[in-house]
Amino acid sequence: MTTASRSAPQRGATPAAPEAATPVPIATPRSAARLAKRVAAGEPALGRSRRVARMLRMLAATHPDAHCELDFTTPLELAVATILSAQSTDKLVNSVTPALFKRYPTALDYAQADRAELEEMIHSTGFFRNKANSLIGMGTAVVEKHDGVLPHTLEELVALPGIGRKTANVILGNAFGIPGITVDTHFGRLVRRWGWTTEEDPVKVEHAIGELVPKRDWTMVSHYVIFHGRRVCHARKPACGACSLGTDCPAFGTGPTDQVQAAKLVKGPSRPHLLAMVGIPDDEAPPAAGGEDADAP
Ligand code: SF4
Repeated sequence: MTTASRSAPQRGATPAAPEAATPVPIATPRSAARLAKRVAAGEPALGRSRRVARMLRMLAATHPDAHCELDFTTPLELAVATILSAQSTDKLVNSVTPALFKRYPTALDYAQADRAELEEMIHSTGFFRNKANSLIGMGTAVVEKHDGVLPHTLEELVALPGIGRKTANVILGNAFGIPGITVDTHFGRLVRRWGWTTEEDPVKVEHAIGELVPKRDWTMVSHYVIFHGRRVCHARKPACGACSLGTDCPAFGTGPTDQVQAAKLVKGPSRPHLLAMVGIPDDEAPPAAGGEDADAP
């Protein structure tokens, strides 16, 4: 399924990326140990911001296809899809939203929805009763307080039922083109693993990364990091030996560093490109069967 009229993500704001045709050097255990020691000792602010800038450029080259993986054509549709994505996968949400968007095209339609019918339509995404409450409540509030039009400020969005700060930033960044950092489980896990921040609280993480990354890149950095977490830097077994970020990552070695073993862990449709980035022929390491779900945190 495609999103023909999905709002374009803010591409191109990140500085020029290295040529993908030149394989990116892979870290060595020694260089990784040195970097890990430096980060653990409290990396100087200038060194960290330069390292983050290099990683951002590399992420842009590694995931030129990064975008919001929820299908939508309007801000309201994105709000609905994001509410449904809680404790679910984007793929599953994208499988139910075409019929849902057709049945409920406006905020008023959600406000007046028959609960049983709505719950049935979103049942497969899980937590369907809570999500139906959120959709009906959100539709009612948008009709009553915003004349049926989804607002476009963080303050107004988070005041709507079912919309927290994470969801609001997804909507702002992807439907309205207003830079926002989306801190989900992938994002928080990766930026801590990379030593960009030690904060655990999502709002503190958002502010810490906002200090490190230019505002114009906030939406795209969210996509890059989430793409890397789903395809390469998995929670349990990251593909370190096949990772383009290795030389700047203090956690290099958390997963296999052998290139062939690591390549088997790389997931997703852009796998040939991801392997080419680090000079591994695609047919040398067929993907491992099973493994982590592409959406698993
Ligand atoms: S896959 Fe390994 S080297 Fe790459 S970012 Fe994750 S932990 Fe670091």
